Amino acid sequence: MGVIRRLPKELVNRIAAGECVERPASVVKELVENSIDAAAKRIEIAILDGGRELIQVRDDGRGMDADDLMLAVEPHATSKLRGDDDLFNICTLGFRGEALASVAAVSRLQIVSRPADREVAYAIRVDAGSLQGPTPQAAPAGTTVEVRDLFYCVPPRRKFLKTNQTEIGHVTEQLARIALAHPDVAFCLRHNQRVLHELRAAADVRQRIGDFYGPELADVLLPIAREGDGVRVEGWVAPPRESRAAAKWEYVFVNGRYVRDRFVSHAVREAYRSLIDPSRHPVVFLYIQIEAQGVDVNVHPTKIEVRWRDSNYIHGQVLAALRDKFLSTNLDHSLQTRHAESDAYRAGVRQAMVDFFTRSPVAARGAGAPQGRFVRTDPPSRGQDDAGPIALHPGPRRANHADDSGPPAPAQSIEPARDGRPAGTGGQALASRPAEPPQAIQIHNTYLVCATADGMMLIDQHALHERILYEELRQRVTRQPLESQQLLLPEAVRVPPDQIEALEAHADVLRRLGVELSASGPQSVTLHAFPSFLERVDRQQFVIDLLGRLGERGARPETDTLLHELLDMMACKAAVKAGDPLTRDEIAALLERREKAERSSHCPHGRPTTLHLSLHDLERQFRRR
Ligand code: ADP
Ligand code: MG
Repeated sequence: MGVIRRLPKELVNRIAAGECVERPASVVKELVENSIDAAAKRIEIAILDGGRELIQVRDDGRGMDADDLMLAVEPHATSKLRGDDDLFNICTLGFRGEALASVAAVSRLQIVSRPADREVAYAIRVDAGSLQGPTPQAAPAGTTVEVRDLFYCVPPRRKFLKTNQTEIGHVTEQLARIALAHPDVAFCLRHNQRVLHELRAAADVRQRIGDFYGPELADVLLPIAREGDGVRVEGWVAPPRESRAAAKWEYVFVNGRYVRDRFVSHAVREAYRSLIDPSRHPVVFLYIQIEAQGVDVNVHPTKIEVRWRDSNYIHGQVLAALRDKFLSTNLDHSLQTRHAESDAYRAGVRQAMVDFFTRSPVAARGAGAPQGRFVRTDPPSRGQDDAGPIALHPGPRRANHADDSGPPAPAQSIEPARDGRPAGTGGQALASRPAEPPQAIQIHNTYLVCATADGMMLIDQHALHERILYEELRQRVTRQPLESQQLLLPEAVRVPPDQIEALEAHADVLRRLGVELSASGPQSVTLHAFPSFLERVDRQQFVIDLLGRLGERGARPETDTLLHELLDMMACKAAVKAGDPLTRDEIAALLERREKAERSSHCPHGRPTTLHLSLHDLERQFRRR
């Protein structure tokens, strides 16, 4: 007797479902794609309880008659492939004929459908693999699919589902991917009766982007277009200053289907390289039309990947389309405003930090003294670790120097810093001059070069400052929530609806950061209070970035990790940047805080802040030994 047996049909379907039905959002994707393939002009999606209880998609498309209804839920049954060759000439979103069968295998499915030219609609149900119907009933033309109790028969998957907020976030993202590719179709998305998105049929992609993400983004987008050799690249791309913290803003569509593709991504990155901060992401909506023979879409069960016949050509076309646009557009103006804005922004942050920390009791010692971008308690007192952070005024010893706001004055003689104490004779010598801070010069407005007891060190000013601010904020936040300031006039901020639900899930973290936000509409939140030390920053931008981060976090957040991520974001915004000239006092303050800060050798991202070269190394390099 052999041991191999044929699996029952239900089990086969359930296994297949594992590939394309991962969570409610995948069901929405499959159903909405079917509606688009059926030429629907309006598609309504209604979700209950994050998709656990119900996912309903209603369309006004072609509809199915009773016979087709019965076939639609069979595996490998499709109306979208006729001959063998069609597989290489696909112009519909679906073609594998497995979505409805898969969904039916892991839920309780009901479909009601009526083609426009028929009098009655028919309904079928599939429950635990058993099909009932078709039964006639009255219904408008089009198709309504209802998926109840998703994964009721696959407990591990059901358990794996995340909070409603997370699941709806994924649904919204799937909706974006389809809606952006089909601006002429109207969509409505509801969750527990609340309308999250109501998208009218739009005249073009840009209008759809505006309806989905707001006119602020749509208005600054630049059109791109390029054509050649069976490939057309079109789209809308944001100027570099509109970069985002989240990576999801690269939307690429191939023949009307959202895909992720490393060749295209690489070309996009390349085009924006050196125009945006490497840690941020560009915003692009790219539409690639290519003859069916030029691309294979049957690579992945969810069809999110494609294989190009000539990937180099695609890469080149995308890169050229973007580059040409950037070269022919006066980005100068925008770069300039960006510069002006961000300088003011940074100066604002720093000044506010100064104010905040000098107002705190420990730093009050320095009150009344002129303030620079950093405040340094003076004379430096070792062991008092909770002295003000890096925002310090020049101390009395330097009070006569007028260089506080002027260009950096290179220190005359470079004295060894106390780094590396107590080892070495230099450390001994220094111990007799305790008040003398380490000195350094700044090079390329980016690095500090500093003598140490046994050699020298090279410091990345941004990385170090970020680390110091981060440690300071971290310490403060463990003691109590960051001090916050109530706004006289609460401010509305427009944000994507799926991020609004993030508010509740992360209420505790926000409270600790001193941020008070409430949901005030389907696409807006209201800001009531804001961390005092950020009081002069662009609040709108901060809230957008903040919610973007929270939204990305999704699932059950580990509060501490998230908190630290956000503190890091604040520290990064507030820290001096590469390219910022520093005054001598600012340099001194940085070096002094460096010694006190924990883990100052690396920035919060784990990059080193400091490189050391010992005298021994130097001697070896110069072949003095
Ligand atoms: P595929 O989309 O790959 O063909 P599906 O399992 O998603 O496979 O759907 C099977 C068939 O059911 C489709 O080919 C289509 O003929 C029909 N169908 C599904 N949804 C709809 C709809 N909303 N309107 C009209 N026909 C539909
Ligand atoms: Mg389908």
